[in-house]
Amino acid sequence: KQAEAGVPTIFDKIVKKEIPCTSVYEDEKVLAFRDINPQAPTHIVIIPKDRDGLTQLSKAEERHKEILGHLMYVATVVAKDLGLKDGFRIVINDGVNGCQSVYHLHIHLLGGRQMKWPPG
Ligand code: 5GP
Repeated sequence: KQAEAGVPTIFDKIVKKEIPCTSVYEDEKVLAFRDINPQAPTHIVIIPKDRDGLTQLSKAEERHKEILGHLMYVATVVAKDLGLKDGFRIVINDGVNGCQSVYHLHIHLLGGRQMKWPPG
């Protein structure tokens, strides 16, 4: 179900620490934590703390370019920190066809096993 911009999601509650998470990286703008339902030995979700209208990637506007770049860079930092030296996968699910379930933009970082291509 697609959330309206402005309606808080579970990730807003995680940012406000109303719901606990296992955090692996945090800075002023971004939070990264372990996915509750991991699809790989390492499965991290990386989110902007302030959703700022970015319910999903396809809603990106010019002003989001910096945070989008930062999120992608943080994915590489986390991958390095967690020792994913043989590679990893980055996924952004967008909308219904992309199987997005939480409408607060996020990057999935998956690693620790051999991935398949093409994905399902
Ligand atoms: P999406 O399907 O929107 O791309 O990804 C949402 C992800 O968030 C899913 O992989 C799901 O397991 C994860 N998730 C949903 N609720 C929670 C939660 O409360 N805590 C954590 N750590 N992950 C969650």
